[in-house]
Amino acid sequence: MTSATGTTRPADATARLRGVRRTVTGMPASDGAGVRLSRIIGQPGLDMVDPFLLLDEFKSDRPEDYIAGFPEHPHRGFETVTYMIAGRVRHADNKGHAGVIEAGGVQWMTAGRGIVHSEMPEQEDGLLWGFQLWVNLPAADKMKPPAYQEFPAERIPAESRDGGVVVRVIAGTTAPGTTGPVTGIPTAPAYLDVALAAGSRFEEPLPAASSAFVYPFQGKVRVAGNGAATELAAGTLGLLGPGDVVRIEAGDDDARLLLVAGRPLGEPVARYGPFVMSTKAELTRAYQDFQAGRF
Ligand code: FE
Repeated sequence: MTSATGTTRPADATARLRGVRRTVTGMPASDGAGVRLSRIIGQPGLDMVDPFLLLDEFKSDRPEDYIAGFPEHPHRGFETVTYMIAGRVRHADNKGHAGVIEAGGVQWMTAGRGIVHSEMPEQEDGLLWGFQLWVNLPAADKMKPPAYQEFPAERIPAESRDGGVVVRVIAGTTAPGTTGPVTGIPTAPAYLDVALAAGSRFEEPLPAASSAFVYPFQGKVRVAGNGAATELAAGTLGLLGPGDVVRIEAGDDDARLLLVAGRPLGEPVARYGPFVMSTKAELTRAYQDFQAGRF
């Protein structure tokens, strides 16, 4: 479709806009020992977005919604990414690794062949707000040793753009050249936290073959497409279609969103709770190894 005015075309007129091909609203869920959250990916309405297996948003200022936390539990075969907007979460694992993820900080945990850990709120009241994303590992990497990449807010670069756009780059490299601190991930993800001032516009090229989604968590935005734009309110994910560049506009209010992209693996997925492997036999083995204390 040809733009009527030309002003809505991407900077490179031959680039194709990655519009929203599907919207998904988070499903209220409870996990861990009773943490109330919104499950956006990894629910009946959206099983996965290869390589992304799960996306949860937890946001509450009611301690009863989060205080029980996520006591000891295992993971094998994938990566968990915790990004905090407000509040603090303490983690500790069976290999002696422990720490606190604070507001604006990220923990990218490669579970690999297995860890047993806990994730507990480091607060008794106030707002706890953050995200957990699960990223699959290629079959060849599922049994590699566990690893952490953990960065506080001040280690995450914030790129300021025209019009009041600030892009916090957790992983990946933006078009202007800002690179996030999380590196060496097999699915080559981009993980951006984009703050848009009212009336501002953000544009970013994404690898054509990548899976990508936009998830506003404050305000609402419009994602341009080759036809009509799609409006997304906070709490609704927009799955991006094929193309080269995503263009997102804020309305009359400020907005903030996650933009996440990654290389699809195209491999079989066998998942059961905290284990994500390639075959049923590997899942059984994971369960047996965990039961036998071999994590
Ligand atoms: Fe966990």
